[in-house]
Amino acid sequence: MEIDLLLRDADVLTLDDARPRGRAVAVHHGHVLAVLDDDELPAGVRARRVVDAGGATVVPGFDDAHQHTAWFGQSLAEIPLGGLRDLDAVYDAVAARAAELAADAFVVGSGYDDVALGGSPDRRALDRAGGGRPVWLKHRSAHVCAVSSEVLRRAGVLDGEAVVPAGGVVVRDEAGDPTGVLLEAAQALAGDLLRPYSVEDLADAIAAATAVFARQGITHVTEAGIGGGWIGRSPRELAAYQLARERGDLAVRVDLMPETSVLHDTAGGPGRGLDLGLRPGLGDRHLRVGPMKIFFDGALSSRTAAMREPYADRDHAGYLGDDPDALRHALVGAVAGGWSVAAHAIGDRAVDAALDAFEETARRPWPGVRPPRHRLEHAGVVDDAALARMAALGVTPVPQARFLFEIGDSMAAAVGDERVDRLYRHASFLRAGLRVPASSDRPCVADGHPLRGMRSMVQRRTAAGCTLGADEAVDAATALRASTVDAAWVAGDEDARGRLAPGFAADLVVLGDDPTRTDPDRIGDIEVVATLRDGRATHGADVLGLPPDGDTQ
Ligand SMILES: [Zn+2]
Repeated sequence: MEIDLLLRDADVLTLDDARPRGRAVAVHHGHVLAVLDDDELPAGVRARRVVDAGGATVVPGFDDAHQHTAWFGQSLAEIPLGGLRDLDAVYDAVAARAAELAADAFVVGSGYDDVALGGSPDRRALDRAGGGRPVWLKHRSAHVCAVSSEVLRRAGVLDGEAVVPAGGVVVRDEAGDPTGVLLEAAQALAGDLLRPYSVEDLADAIAAATAVFARQGITHVTEAGIGGGWIGRSPRELAAYQLARERGDLAVRVDLMPETSVLHDTAGGPGRGLDLGLRPGLGDRHLRVGPMKIFFDGALSSRTAAMREPYADRDHAGYLGDDPDALRHALVGAVAGGWSVAAHAIGDRAVDAALDAFEETARRPWPGVRPPRHRLEHAGVVDDAALARMAALGVTPVPQARFLFEIGDSMAAAVGDERVDRLYRHASFLRAGLRVPASSDRPCVADGHPLRGMRSMVQRRTAAGCTLGADEAVDAATALRASTVDAAWVAGDEDARGRLAPGFAADLVVLGDDPTRTDPDRIGDIEVVATLRDGRATHGADVLGLPPDGDTQ
């Protein structure tokens, strides 16, 4: 027998309890045929290609259970505002980009941090910097943006014609004048001037994003919101992923979450859904429809997450993404229609509201065969009572450890000392019997690299050097499990990928070092030597001497 590939002289971490480590991986027809204890194939078996890994570490491909692919790809072309520390630097960057553009062209930037800047960009300063062009700058949290007067004019805000979407706020000064800052759903007033993006442009953005993912060892992502709401790029967004795939540009497997507003009451009921009764699971292991996404609130860094008690540094408690009954109706209706649901809930009040709705669904019939895998996206502020409810309902938390580093100081200030231990828990979720898939929420964080996410799970350190909830830290082996086994589980792929075991997809990463045996400070710096999906290189083909992956089949 001749097999496709033998990857040998490797330190293989399989994440398979039956055989945790090996020396070599035999790959055939895109699957793991066997993990071997030595470098030799059994008698009578030869490999068409043999790659010596030179002692490198091999782990299953990384999985990002919540991020925004097309949006990240688009952001790669926007003015990067992430590292800037004063507003003048923002205005200079806007002026420099505007100088390259046509007189009426949109100037788009992303990643500004109002805390680091000492305030939000000012509308009139943006008018000057942009030479009167429409300027749209997105906050790093993605829950706030700052725009120039031309955006407000085109959106009908200045003449009072604009209808502000539910859950959104157009911020005004004491005189009632819009400051240019738009909160949550009101961001659609800016975004809708550019949306819908063309399917071709989105496919290009998807290609750019997934090329980055492959270089970082990622083989599967879940896209957390397409098609509608402030987050969707186009009502035809799914077609952009199909086009990217057909072009051979989809470098990772993707599950797509339709945003709640694209679901509707369907003829023949029950519940809410998409036409033809389409629901999660349709597609294949490269591109598939995932759960429904619904926003129960905003974000801590923008103080728009819905809290039970006011923020420690504000005189308000944030707000829910919509009327509580409307949110409950949307969630319960989707589940009745056969959808698993991913509920964005960060503040403890939003977590309560989402769990109330999940509890209601648990009392109703479920039309599917496999039980739904409902998720709580972010699960930012969870006390022990809410945690017990999550465990009882089997709702999986999808937190982002990297938030602790990038915005942890701001989150700690938002909740204050009394609530700080409830932030982005991990060890407690595991102790309660829940799984914790790893995710980045990129581009809402500046750095979505899975190894740096793992480092944050282990260290829980903020940018300022504080440790947030030391009791919630996990060891590196657990962090690796979150990025592989547990993320595959929440997508329903626990029998197909996420481990290196016979019959599983040959999705793997060759690393310069073993993250479970490296000084935690250095986990984020480990080199990603190569990435294989279905046994084909999506990154590092030249290093391994393999043909590049031009074919997503
Ligand atoms: Zn997100």
